[in-house]
Amino acid sequence: VAKSSGRGRVTVYDADLEKDSRHRRFIERELRAAILTGELLVEYQPVYAATDNVLTGVEALVRWRHALRGVIPPSDFIPIAEETGLIHKLGAAVLERACEDARRWPGLTVAVNLSPIQVLKGDIESTVKRILQATEVAPERLVLEITEGVLIEDPEMALAVINRLRALGCRVALDDFGTGYSSFGYLKRFTFDKLKIDQSFVRDLADSADSAMIVHAIVSLARGLGMTVVAEGVETPEQVRFLQASGCHELQGYLLGRPMRATAIDHLVTGAKSPALVSVCA
Ligand code: C2E
Ligand code: MG
Ligand code: MG
Ligand code: MG
Repeated sequence: VAKSSGRGRVTVYDADLEKDSRHRRFIERELRAAILTGELLVEYQPVYAATDNVLTGVEALVRWRHALRGVIPPSDFIPIAEETGLIHKLGAAVLERACEDARRWPGLTVAVNLSPIQVLKGDIESTVKRILQATEVAPERLVLEITEGVLIEDPEMALAVINRLRALGCRVALDDFGTGYSSFGYLKRFTFDKLKIDQSFVRDLADSADSAMIVHAIVSLARGLGMTVVAEGVETPEQVRFLQASGCHELQGYLLGRPMRATAIDHLVTGAKSPALVSVCA
């Protein structure tokens, strides 16, 4: 609704938009406090080797444990953290927590998601370096996950940052592969240690011959380029069998393990096989 302000100016007033931006500012204030007071919680989802069911690593996934609203998923606050620049502090806090926790799981890799803002608009390399030094985690154990958006937005910068992170000894993974403007050209131009097939392809495996073909093609391409291939969103035994047969290296999904607290990973580490995978392979 546009209305005249009476002084020859026309202001555009949209109640929803106004409510929206007020809501965002409110969340921003709360989020800023949450980072400081430790209301942010990091859960870990187990990742298993596809062939021998051994636990190989975990992916750190942030949640916000809100005093009144309960546990808030990242999709509800990461975008706001990105818009407000809070993502740098938030991201560093997650990285720090994950590396700190990783000390309890010596044989495992720990994967941490990086926002495009962290990669393109900050000094992520220094942050990673500082945290690795402080926690004494071997750089090879840290996997940094980035999405295709980063490569599209600023290929030069992305290339430089990826190379610097790899030079520190960290691994870099391309997350959600197949969802963006996926171009095989990216795989040639950028060096990734890992490629994570997006869960949308895994979900459709049983019903869609196309998805099955795409997964096959992605796995063989990635393997050919020397990357470790990880399938996300594995929920059924049929998917496990298909992905194993395709030559996928690692599996991650609710069937094998949901994101869980660090203490639950402690228990998993002692009996390092996935019960679900073992029964599928039996
Ligand atoms: P992602 O990195 O692709 O993480 C995988 C998401 O899929 C997680 O959702 C996980 O809980 C969910 N998932 C895992 N297995 C299954 C499954 O079998 N079925 C289904 N339906 N879902 C499954 P979550 O934890 O809600 O995270 C969503 C996204 O938020 C992540 O996607 C990542 O992009 C972002 N995110 C999470 N933590 C962080 C963080 O610390 N920093 C940044 N920048 N982004 C984060
Ligand atoms: Mg991820
Ligand atoms: Mg993903
Ligand atoms: Mg995702």
